[in-house]
Amino acid sequence: MTKINNTMAAFDRNFNIFTEITPEMIKSDGGKGILIDLDDTLAPRNMPVCNETVKNWVKKVKESGLFICIVSNNHKKRTTLYANSLDIAFIYNAFKPMQFCVKRAMNVLNLNADEIIFIGDQLMTDMKAAKNVGIKGYLVDPINLKSGIMIKIKRIIEKKLYKRK
Ligand SMILES: [Mg+2]
Repeated sequence: MTKINNTMAAFDRNFNIFTEITPEMIKSDGGKGILIDLDDTLAPRNMPVCNETVKNWVKKVKESGLFICIVSNNHKKRTTLYANSLDIAFIYNAFKPMQFCVKRAMNVLNLNADEIIFIGDQLMTDMKAAKNVGIKGYLVDPINLKSGIMIKIKRIIEKKLYKRK
């Protein structure tokens, strides 16, 4: 886990997988709520409903008093089915990194930007969406590295781009 002390950084913390993130960490960063990406962050694209690992993590998050909402660029059917299997709020067709989707999500949580942590696997969509409105970003590695070969390639390009800044 690395924490970058740079306000211009593309993300605030980096994890291998969402299960490394605890409610205590979120709270220590001032978080009262979580916005979380779905595909390759919580689950591989081909997993229609949650598994026990995700269910237990979300349970822990909810029991700690944190609010949580899925923000996905995927379509209605996929996002609704998955979020309903967890019984949590969701936004589909979010068009990340557009600002309006994150602002909609902030309304769903009824929290300010500095009270929210955005968890996602993509620098150019998830982290950019968060940073656009001043939300802290936790970057995770794509959960399904086998199907995520294109994402891996994109990540290498992204890292090179961000290094130059
Ligand atoms: Mg994703």
